[in-house]
Amino acid sequence: MSDPVSDHDLVPYWKAKSLEEMSPEEWERLCDGCGRCCLNKLEDWDTGEIAWTDVACRLLDGHACRCRQYETRHAVVPDCVGLTPEAVRSLTWLPPSCAYRLVAEGRDLYWWHHLVSGDRETVHQAGVSVRDRTVSEEGMELEDYEEHVVDWPGEDLDAQGAVDDDAAGWDEGDPSEKKYEKIP
Ligand code: SF4
Ligand code: SF4
Repeated sequence: MSDPVSDHDLVPYWKAKSLEEMSPEEWERLCDGCGRCCLNKLEDWDTGEIAWTDVACRLLDGHACRCRQYETRHAVVPDCVGLTPEAVRSLTWLPPSCAYRLVAEGRDLYWWHHLVSGDRETVHQAGVSVRDRTVSEEGMELEDYEEHVVDWPGEDLDAQGAVDDDAAGWDEGDPSEKKYEKIP
């Protein structure tokens, strides 16, 4: 007698499907809501090194970690990068915890992802999101961004999905000794 539930049905969609195979609704649900990708980044002129800042896009709600105007965001923030499977595979700055990056690399989601935990608060409880850790770019001069360089958005996580303070994502160095430009 055949089992009415196939193995394929038992495998969560983010493991069963590639990024390209996901429906638009599955794609949107894959976002963990961390808000890390909505922080401004600086690129070192000389080395190409990316430095994260805690300066958030003007449309980011710093507590909810959500875009305030997601559907029409490009009218306000033209350089907001729209993620596609191709972009996920080519962008070098996607945070190590980003669900799209994890799936693209053939890795599983962490316990705190809402698709695993069933709770959209766990990404915040695990300390992975940007909740209440950002300042808005509104009214800030570009030259002041260097004072806001931080390493936590690029931190790797340990095997349990906890923030690993010993594994910073880049050599931070002294920001004042570098020449940066803002990248989208
Ligand atoms: S870093 Fe990835 S998972 Fe987190 S908010 Fe951005 S797109 Fe979503
Ligand atoms: S416009 Fe883009 S970068 Fe800004 S908050 Fe919305 S999704 Fe994030």
